[in-house]
Amino acid sequence: MWIKRCILCGNYIFNGKGYQILCNYCQLNINKIEGNICVKCGLPLISEDRLCLKCRDRKQYYEFNKSVFTYSREIKEIIYQYKFRNRKILAFYLSGQLYNLISKYYPDAVIVPVPGRKIIKKQKGWEHIELICKILEKKYKLTHISLLDRKGNKAQKSLSMELRRENLRKNIIFNPRVNFLPETVILVDDIFTTGNTINECASILKENGVIKIYSATIAVD
Ligand SMILES: [Zn+2]
Ligand SMILES: [Zn+2]
Repeated sequence: MWIKRCILCGNYIFNGKGYQILCNYCQLNINKIEGNICVKCGLPLISEDRLCLKCRDRKQYYEFNKSVFTYSREIKEIIYQYKFRNRKILAFYLSGQLYNLISKYYPDAVIVPVPGRKIIKKQKGWEHIELICKILEKKYKLTHISLLDRKGNKAQKSLSMELRRENLRKNIIFNPRVNFLPETVILVDDIFTTGNTINECASILKENGVIKIYSATIAVD
């Protein structure tokens, strides 16, 4: 089964294949990242050289992040439809996009989902990043290990920056049930904004013996 109307503009998709969700026009006009980007977080650069302003003078535990898209209106809409309107079919589109990125920059590494909030999974019965990682494993044959887990239920958005950091530190834990530890992993998440989540996850993974941590995200903001 596939969507016959474009998720962004509502136009019919003619000759759509498989899980195509965008019409040809939107497909061409969606802004994938190209050109000069920050070597650390993957944000497109305007006038800076190598590093964006956010990434200067900051201790970071991951090697680098790459994103498929900038966090444009269109991507915001797709992620919203997927996460909050429960259009699970979008997981196929998003995992396909992530797969292209992962196979280009990080062949052979193991993917690790950034753990979602437990309450959401309990309410909905599925979790958005986990589902993408499952597709990356089943359809694209990537190795997927849930090295991280999360406890607590407080939504990050309602907290101040300082509390957010602290809360994250307390909430994300190394999964004690894991019995295989890869040397190199790629954290997978939806949006890379401040980079705090990826950084905290990376620092926990390092503490527990992972040597190199990369990050692949759908969008960077
Ligand atoms: Zn369209
Ligand atoms: Zn940066």
